Amino acid sequence: MPSVIVCGAGVFGAATARQLAREGWDVTLVEPVAAGHVRSGSGGESRLIRCAHGADEWHTRSARRALELWREIDPALVVEAGMAWFARSDDGWEAKSEATLQALGIPCERVDPATLFPSVRDDDLTFTLFEPEAGILRARDATRTLAVQAVAAGARVIAAAARPDGDRVIAGDEVLEADHVVWACGAWLPQLFGDLVSLRITQQDVFFFGAPAGWETPRVPGWVDYDGAFYGLGDLDARGVKISPDVEGPPIDVEAADRVVLPEHLASARAYVAHRFPALAGAPLVGTRVCQYEITPDTRFVIAPHPEHPSVWLMGGGSGHGFKHAPVLAERMSAWLRGDDAPQPRFALGARAADSALRTAGEAGSPATPRS
Ligand SMILES: Cc1cc2nc3c(=O)[nH]c(=O)nc-3n(C[C@H](O)[C@H](O)[C@H](O)COP(=O)(O)OP(=O)(O)OC[C@H]3O[C@@H](n4cnc5c(N)ncnc54)[C@H](O)[C@@H]3O)c2cc1C
Repeated sequence: MPSVIVCGAGVFGAATARQLAREGWDVTLVEPVAAGHVRSGSGGESRLIRCAHGADEWHTRSARRALELWREIDPALVVEAGMAWFARSDDGWEAKSEATLQALGIPCERVDPATLFPSVRDDDLTFTLFEPEAGILRARDATRTLAVQAVAAGARVIAAAARPDGDRVIAGDEVLEADHVVWACGAWLPQLFGDLVSLRITQQDVFFFGAPAGWETPRVPGWVDYDGAFYGLGDLDARGVKISPDVEGPPIDVEAADRVVLPEHLASARAYVAHRFPALAGAPLVGTRVCQYEITPDTRFVIAPHPEHPSVWLMGGGSGHGFKHAPVLAERMSAWLRGDDAPQPRFALGARAADSALRTAGEAGSPATPRS
């Protein structure tokens, strides 16, 4: 029976541990806090799951397969709400997505956004693309479910912060050895592997606004304004309408930072709400969350063997869009570790050219203000 140590029980590590345990591997999962904890990238109530990825077929197919897998893992984790893309040009990300989705037979249609939202302004939009089969994942619940299913399939959990020692793992006072090691430590990867991984760790703020009846998700879909660098959803589980500026925030210390939102992020979120959803102008702020992105230069993930220890793999760089893909990446990881498939060059370590973002067009320093 092959053996693996998975360090980190965020969505990437928990999905990998579950996948391999269910395939009969001897799995040890090392996590110092808990699956989906508040400072991890996989914490929080919700994550969007959508197939549209511009012209990128690999990620489009991956998201489609992931939706199937999430439903198999637990259908209660998927909120079937659909997702709207607010297009600001005829030939941008949304038009490219539409062509790719149609070529792959994935449902999408241009719609009047007034049919989706109780109040919406669209005079700055060229069209709205709707993915009816997209939706929302219950993120923290999903991450915890993956870890629980990993344990149910035989994984052993060690509650400790691990550190690498060549191809071994030091976890507390235990020295662990296995056929393979997967380091899936999210924003903590740079602390563990230094310059080997090129990740920017940025503060990302999420806002919830109080709304009257009619704004509940799943009736109200998820949405993304790619060029405007905002995304959100309706009122899920009475938490409030979620709005998030998607420009890259300032660097954050994941361990030590107080999780307090930045005033400029709040101001831009309020301005966007007032602009896009006029009936919510002046809506009260009812909650906030501070999370971090771990962003690669081209927003593609890092999933690659260590150059000096080929049995050791690094897995991360979710870049603000990785959550949905986790079960697919876990499937692929099984094939990569077995040697049934070659590592994906797109996820390799080393220098990468900057590319258009797979999340939104929000880059460091770009204005998080509504453009009309
Ligand atoms: C605000 C926000 C919105 C997002 N929106 C979306 C979205 O809509 N759709 C989408 O698909 N994705 C989205 N993402 C991205 C997605 O959530 C992340 O890419 C993903 O959750 C990262 O998972 P991870 O397992 O790599 O990292 P994490 O969840 O951070 O997990 C890493 C784990 O490693 C553990 N760890 C750290 N150090 C050690 C150590 N020494 N030993 C062992 N374990 C260790 C940590 O405690 C943690 O539990 C969003 C992210 C954020 C922050």
